[in-house]
Amino acid sequence: MSEQDYQPETLGVRAGTVRSQFGEHSEAMFLTSSFVFESAAQAAKRFIGEEPGNIYARFTNPTVTMFEERLAALEGAEQCIATASGMSAILACVMGVLKAGDHIVASVSLFGATVNLFNNIIKKFGVETSYVSATDVAEWQAAVRPNTKLFFLETPSNPLTEISDIAAIAAVAKGCGALLAVDNCFCTPILQQPLKLGADIVIHSATKYLDGQGRVLGGAVLGSKKNLEGVYGFLRTAGPTMSAFNAWVFLKGMETLKLRMDAHSANALELARWLEAHPNVARVFYPGLPSHPQHALAMRQQKTGGGIVAFEVKGGKEAAWRVIDSTSMLSITANLGDTRTTICHSASTTHARITPEARAAAGISDGLIRIGVGLEAIEDIKADLARGLNQ
Ligand SMILES: *Cc1c(COP(=O)(O)O)cnc(C)c1O
Repeated sequence: MSEQDYQPETLGVRAGTVRSQFGEHSEAMFLTSSFVFESAAQAAKRFIGEEPGNIYARFTNPTVTMFEERLAALEGAEQCIATASGMSAILACVMGVLKAGDHIVASVSLFGATVNLFNNIIKKFGVETSYVSATDVAEWQAAVRPNTKLFFLETPSNPLTEISDIAAIAAVAKGCGALLAVDNCFCTPILQQPLKLGADIVIHSATKYLDGQGRVLGGAVLGSKKNLEGVYGFLRTAGPTMSAFNAWVFLKGMETLKLRMDAHSANALELARWLEAHPNVARVFYPGLPSHPQHALAMRQQKTGGGIVAFEVKGGKEAAWRVIDSTSMLSITANLGDTRTTICHSASTTHARITPEARAAAGISDGLIRIGVGLEAIEDIKADLARGLNQ
C-alpha cells in the first residue's frame, strides 16, 4: 500500500516521517543551521545539485522537510514549500509567480494583510490587483486583462463565510492562462482540497488550524514542481523560511488535525443552530446551515461547514460589545483555529481600517461578531455567550 492510498487520519500521523540512525519514534527536531560534508568532493556535488542532501537551513532542514511532506500528502500536492508565516507564503507565491507588469484578479473578501500586501507592497513593483466578488464567477471573467497571471481567493471568507466556487473560478483562470491560488486556511485539507477542484496553488497560514493550539507562526505554498519553481527560488534566496522548531510543532499539530477539524465543525454547527434560534440574533453566517446562501455549494465543496461562525446581534455595536464583554471563558482575540474559542468584533478590529462605507458594502455590520469555535464543551461555550445575549 503506498502512502497515496492512506486516509487523511493516517497521513496526518504517518506521512513524511524519516528516522535518523537513532530510530526515534517521534520526529526529531534538527536544530542546526548548517550541515557537514564528508569531503570537499561531496560538498561540491551538493552545491551544484548533483547529489541530493542538506546544505544550509535556509534551503532545507530535515524537520521542515517532514512537515512539507506531510502537508503535501494531505493536500494531494506534488510539492510543498514551508514558510515563516502565512503572509510570507502569500509573498513567496506572488514573488515566485509574477513579474512587473502582471495583473492579479482577487476576491474582495480577503484577509486584511493580504489586501495590504497587494495594494501597498506588490503594487510598488508594478503588479496591479483588481478586486471582484467572491461569489459571482462572471465578475472574475470580466476582470481579466491580457496581462492577468494570477487569480487569488480564500473560501470560506472572513468573517462572513462566503463560499467561492473553486472549480468554476479555476475554469475561468485556465481559460485565460492564469494560475488560481486558494488560501485554504479556514478549511485545511481535511475539509477541502483545492488542487483536486482545479486550483493550481494552495496557500496555508499554518498558524491557525495546522498548529491548532495557538503556539507558533508558519505557512506553506503547495502545487506542482513546475508552478512552484520560482517560489522555491525566492524563499531560498530571500529567506522567510520555516524554523525547525516551528515545523516540529506543526508535525505534532497535524497528527490530530482530522480529529480536531471534525470536533471544531460539530461544535460550530451546534452553536450556529443555537444562535439562529436566539431572539436577540438577527442573522447567522455559517456554511453548514441551510439558511446560508451557498449552503449547497459549500456541502459539495467542503466536508463540513468548518469551525468559523459569524452572527449579527440585534442592537448594533453596543449590543455586540456587551456580548463580548459579558463572556468570561472565551478569548477576546482576532486569532482563530485554536482549541480555545475566540471571539472578536470584526468592524472595530480586523476590518477597522477600511472606511465605514467599504465595510457596509462588504456586509460587515456593527452588530457582527466572529467566533472561532474551539474544542471546549458546547454547553460551556453557549452559556458564556448567553450571558450577554439574554440581556
Ligand atoms: C491568519 C491568516 C493569514 C496570515 O497568516 P500569518 O500566519 O498570520 O502570517 C492569511 N490568510 C488567512 C485566511 C488567515 O486567516
